[in-house]
Amino acid sequence: MRIVVKIGTSNLCDSQGRLDAEKIDGFSRQLIKLYQDGHQLLVVSSGAVGAGIGAVGRRPRTVQEKQALAAVGQAHLIHAWHQHLGTVIPAQILVSGYDLTVEERRRNSSRTLEQLVAWGILPIINENDSVADEEIRIGDNDTLAARVACLMVADLLILLSDVDGLFTDDPNRHAGAQKIVQVSWVTREHFNATAESGPFGTGGMATKLQAAIICQDQGIPMVLANGQVPEVLSRIIAGDRDCGTWFMAHRGEDVEK
Ligand code: GLU
Repeated sequence: MRIVVKIGTSNLCDSQGRLDAEKIDGFSRQLIKLYQDGHQLLVVSSGAVGAGIGAVGRRPRTVQEKQALAAVGQAHLIHAWHQHLGTVIPAQILVSGYDLTVEERRRNSSRTLEQLVAWGILPIINENDSVADEEIRIGDNDTLAARVACLMVADLLILLSDVDGLFTDDPNRHAGAQKIVQVSWVTREHFNATAESGPFGTGGMATKLQAAIICQDQGIPMVLANGQVPEVLSRIIAGDRDCGTWFMAHRGEDVEK
């Protein structure tokens, strides 16, 4: 299977926003295993701004400060992946909105990614936060991951976050909130379950639902799951419905291929 995995800031950084080597090591082990099983992988890795905050010891107060911290943090982020991926070679790909929407740039982006995948190299993709302005920003990595999944005609998008999936209500505020196992169509009601994003990441539930809509429209299934669940990637690929919320693909396709 060709799989895009998005790993959020909260899964990669500690509570102070510093990159957490143990967490990167854990995901690296899981990714290496999937490679050995013959899957084609692309990773959308957040954590640049968070890593920058940890490295410089400053919280951003302006857009410029955030962009500057992303420039520092992105280097730390790729270095950390490189250190933990063993024999799997990572490649850094930084994109803006244009690279995924303007036809010629889209073609260039997909050609490069296809070449890396063909070589068995792991593309580690992030938004080019340091130079992206309002006009060309994608804004969050959930949307970026969904667009990459469409560009690369992936079989599955896995969004890893610090939530167990989509709930009937915000589980932080409603004790009785239930995890939804499967979503056939994203509707307005699902957006009622929106939760705020964490201190260092971007997004919250709304961007995850937007990502699901983008994927569903293109016939790509998506699973939203908690990155802290042990062996989460293998469990999802094995079709374990206890893990996360499964957003079904349209065009008659099912997640279990
Ligand atoms: N591109 C941002 C970063 O690397 C993350 C955006 C997001 O998490 O949605 O820090």
